[in-house]
Amino acid sequence: MLSKIKLSCVGVTFAFVTICSHVQADTFELTKVAEGVYVHHGQHLDIDDGYQGDICNIGVVIGREAIAVIDTGGSKHTGEQLLQAIKAISPLPIRYVINTHVHPDHTYGNAAFQNGTTHFVGHEKLANTMLLRKEQYEKLNARLLGEAGKVSNTVTPDTPVHNKLTLDLGDRQLQLQAQHVAHTHTDLIVLDTKTNTLFAGDLLFAQRTPVVEGDLKGLIAALEQINQSHYTLIVPGHGLESNDQPTMLGNALRYLNLLLADIRTSIKKGISMEQTMDTAAASERDKWQLFDIANRRNVNVVYPQLEWE
Ligand SMILES: [Zn+2]
Repeated sequence: MLSKIKLSCVGVTFAFVTICSHVQADTFELTKVAEGVYVHHGQHLDIDDGYQGDICNIGVVIGREAIAVIDTGGSKHTGEQLLQAIKAISPLPIRYVINTHVHPDHTYGNAAFQNGTTHFVGHEKLANTMLLRKEQYEKLNARLLGEAGKVSNTVTPDTPVHNKLTLDLGDRQLQLQAQHVAHTHTDLIVLDTKTNTLFAGDLLFAQRTPVVEGDLKGLIAALEQINQSHYTLIVPGHGLESNDQPTMLGNALRYLNLLLADIRTSIKKGISMEQTMDTAAASERDKWQLFDIANRRNVNVVYPQLEWE
């Protein structure tokens, strides 16, 4: 495995993203985005179309004594690839695995980190929600991922975050903040105070169409709350990290506010949900990947909620 690991430093600064170095294990890549902070970028694939268990962003933060992993991908296989890539960077122990929310593309790599010493950390509602969805998600994984899905067991957090929690990695603190209902009802954001890097989980998408499962108004409020502070770098749940906070947050808020306004208008005018799926936020279609499928699903979630406003 080690012979296949490639280190390179391209030092290219794009408009919004600085890529300092890559660590590649087979085809699994970790990109250094700040001092001691790495990100793996999953592919923009829909869960119903070519899903391979590796579609979300994964964060790795390395302190003086220990490492934290933020999300683990969607299968034990992806988790194992992540583990090998981390070992190529640092010999330090992985003290914490943090899950930003319940969705299976972010959590089923946890199985690769069960070693009796690593702690699993998540929103106070995460453990119970994972157990409630265990059967559904394990079936889904078996169907979409075959054998790799069948061996990816559900690993729930042992360390719940009620509101805020600070984790110490040795001369480096991570501040965790549990959220109200937004993308889901189990969202958590993570701040690496040393580099002022925010891991927003799926509260924030870049390039790929944002997704709402919990509450659209709650999601907009959560993003507005994030925007009250300034971050040096923001890592979304899907898409490229960015140091251009106004553009990144602005894009997401523009889409979500338009979605909210258009669905409200449809309901007021008596336009059906089915019809609204084709028309809501339509001017955003060319600005996002996987727009049609994600936007339709969002309308399907949000329309019935807003009917009771
Ligand atoms: Zn999600």
